[in-house]
Order: sequence, then structure tokens, then C-alpha cells
Amino acid sequence: MKILIVGGGGREHALAWKCAQSPRVKHVFVAPGNAGTALESKVSNLDIAADDIDALLRFSIEKDVELTIIGPEGPLVAGIVDRFAAAGRRCFGPSRKAARLEGSKAFTKDFLRRHRIPSAGFATFTAANFDAAYVRAQRLPLVIKADGLAAGKGVVICETHESAIATSREMLEGKFGAAGKTIVIEEFLQGEEVSFIVVANDQQVVALATSQDHKRRDDGDRGPNTGGMGAYSPAPIVTAQLHRRIMREVIEPTLKGLAEDGNPYLGFLYAGLMIAADGTPNVLEFNCRFGDPETQPILMRLQSDFVDLCEATLEGSLERAQIRWDPRAALGVVMAAGGYPDAYRQGDPISGLDVAAGRPGKVFHAGTRAEGTQIVTAGGRVLCAVGLGDSVRAAHHQAYNLVHAIHWNLVQYRLDIGHRAIERE
Ligand code: AMP
Repeated sequence: MKILIVGGGGREHALAWKCAQSPRVKHVFVAPGNAGTALESKVSNLDIAADDIDALLRFSIEKDVELTIIGPEGPLVAGIVDRFAAAGRRCFGPSRKAARLEGSKAFTKDFLRRHRIPSAGFATFTAANFDAAYVRAQRLPLVIKADGLAAGKGVVICETHESAIATSREMLEGKFGAAGKTIVIEEFLQGEEVSFIVVANDQQVVALATSQDHKRRDDGDRGPNTGGMGAYSPAPIVTAQLHRRIMREVIEPTLKGLAEDGNPYLGFLYAGLMIAADGTPNVLEFNCRFGDPETQPILMRLQSDFVDLCEATLEGSLERAQIRWDPRAALGVVMAAGGYPDAYRQGDPISGLDVAAGRPGKVFHAGTRAEGTQIVTAGGRVLCAVGLGDSVRAAHHQAYNLVHAIHWNLVQYRLDIGHRAIERE
């Protein structure tokens, strides 16, 4: 069968690499892909942007692609699954309405409250009803969020009332365009963050291997927020008891609530959770797709067939899906361009990829491009080097053995990915 993966980051490289391993798959197309996907066997890139739904649909019909898997949130929130379904094409991911769980934070907060799913206290405002007195009456710090998709930049933690008011006004006045026309002001939650990813259809749900990521740019979880500087799986904080709580208090009521509201879910569902000191799993956000960089270490550990898993989900036979995980830990280190997460450099030649290819582990590409035979940087997050090991510490060692082989001008990466898990070990 032929598969189409939509997207061009590290997550999509891992998805394409994993799909290509399925003996049933003849070829994997990636739109648009990157320099890493172009080098995988049975995989080729297409010159189609991830949000060009018309061109993607046309390609899937012309080439008779049996299954399309969507990586990023943009096309899902825009309704790519509905468009493919209307044309009778199989597309893996939630419908436009179900994808609002990621596309609108105000929708999600209201949904969580109505269905009594644990989450931070909040209020929603537009420019018409913004209330500075409400802000001044809240305990600090405060979290200000743009309602819509803002490429991971729409969340600001404010330490003073004045900065919270200024940040709210900036968003309402258009700093994030339409995404900030509505804002959510949230109570700040303490605890440890966990990524919990499941695959679900309207009747069934299976949790994938647990993972944890590092959002801050610098060692010691300091510095600006990023899309993610590294991740590992499993996350030792998710004990069997916490796993049960997350399923019972978050995942099951979310899927049931969506179905009751007439928006049944199908696809990967990612819950970003803050685990409070008493073990309460508070929802920070939902993503309607696999996380990046969590996908890379999670798929490194998946031993069973990924395409079978997607098909079983679509066909309502998830109970028959035999998901097998490598018992070893996997840990991925993101290598980013100089300047990231602000304006970053592009076009820097990357050296040492050939050396890394000869070492154990796997380097997934994210923001890369080929210029003739030279691979150069072409995004903020450039590579994710993933190691496997009998412990998180051993996986950390293998991942950094890859990182140390690779270089470009002003490359930046953290040295302490997995530190919490390693301390627990
Ligand atoms: P979000 O996109 O909503 O997950 O927010 C991005 C990041 O901001 C999260 O991964 C958290 O680190 C942080 N964050 C968001 N909401 C809260 C909150 N209510 N309390 C504390 N931190 C938060």
C-alpha cells in the first residue's frame, strides 16, 4: 500500500521512517518532508505544503494513496480529515470539530469545566469585555493564553499584574492576529509536566508509551519556552496508579464528552498534564496529534506495526491491535539553530551526519534542506538525536554520542535532557 504523511518536521520523519518499516507498505510520500525523509528507503518527498489541502487530496486520488496520516495541527484544525472523508479517502486524524480541542483554548476550557475534568481555574475575555480589575484581583503568577493556534508562542506566564494586563492587551490588539482575539487567563499550576498520548476512536482507546519533554531552552529547565528541546520515554513519574488516574479522570471523560457533544474523536490525542503534589492530573492543553519531539523517542520504542495500529483505529478494531514496546528507554536531544526560539539562522552547513549514521541510535531531521550533496539548517529545531538504553541514563549516553558527532555554526542543545528521570533512577 501507499502512505502519505503530511508535514515536514522531526515528528513526520519518525512517522515516515516507522511506516516504511511495515512489510505491507510499498511507498511512503511525505509532503513536504525534509532532507532526512528524502534519504529513507521507500520514502520520497513531495513539493506540496502541509496546509495545501486541495493539492494533497488531488495527489492522494491520482496516486491512489490508501492511507494519509496528518502530522501537524494546522491542517487538522482546518478540516483536512472532513475533506478527505467527503472524497472517500482514508485520512488519519480528528475531524475539524473534534480538533477544536487544540484549535481553541476557550472552547477547551469550557469543555473541561462542563465535563468536570481537572484543569486550572480561568476566565475568557475579548477586547469588548476585558476587565483589568479582574486581573488585579487574581493571585500571581498568571498565565495568559491566546485562544487560537499561535505556533506554540501564545502562552505567557506573568509575574506581575501590570505585565499580565499589558500582555492581555497586546494579544487582544492583534499580536497573534486572529488567534488572540479571544484570550484565556488561567491560574498558575505547580507540579511536574507529563505528556500522555493515546490513540482513540469513538468506542476504543489505547494509551501509548508514556513520555516527558523539556520545553525550556536552557539546562536546568530555564530560559525561554520552546517547541521542545528533548524528550524521553517511558516517563518514570507515570506509575501504574497515576496511569489509571489519568485514564479515568482525563482521557475517558474527554472522549466520552466529545462523543456526547456530537464530535466523536478519532486519532492521536495528546494531553499535556501538570501533575499536582497530591497526584491530580490537571489538563494544561490538548493536542489533536502526536507531539514533537515526543514522537521520536516513542516510535523508536514501538516494535509492532504502526500502519496496522492506524488501520485498526480507523476500522474500530483497536482491541485486536497488538502494540509491542521495546522495554528499553529512548531519549531524544533536539539540536537547534543559533537564535532559536527567536529569529534563527538558516543555511548553515551541517557536518558529521555520516559519522553519526555509523553509531547506534537514530538521528531524525526536522528543519533541514539539501543543497546539492550538502545538508544545511532550514528551521529552528534542526535535528533530534535519539538513543536507546537499558536505563534513561544509558539512552542519554547513546543520544549524546550522536549529538557530539554533529556540528554546525552556533548549534545549541541542552546537556541535561532526562535529568529528572535519571535522578529518579
Ligand atoms: P500550553 O500550550 O497551554 O501547554 O502551554 C505551554 C506551556 O506553558 C506548558 O507546557 C506549561 O509549561 C506552561 N503552562 C501553561 N498553562 C499553565 C498553567 N496554568 N500553570 C503553569 N504552567 C502553565
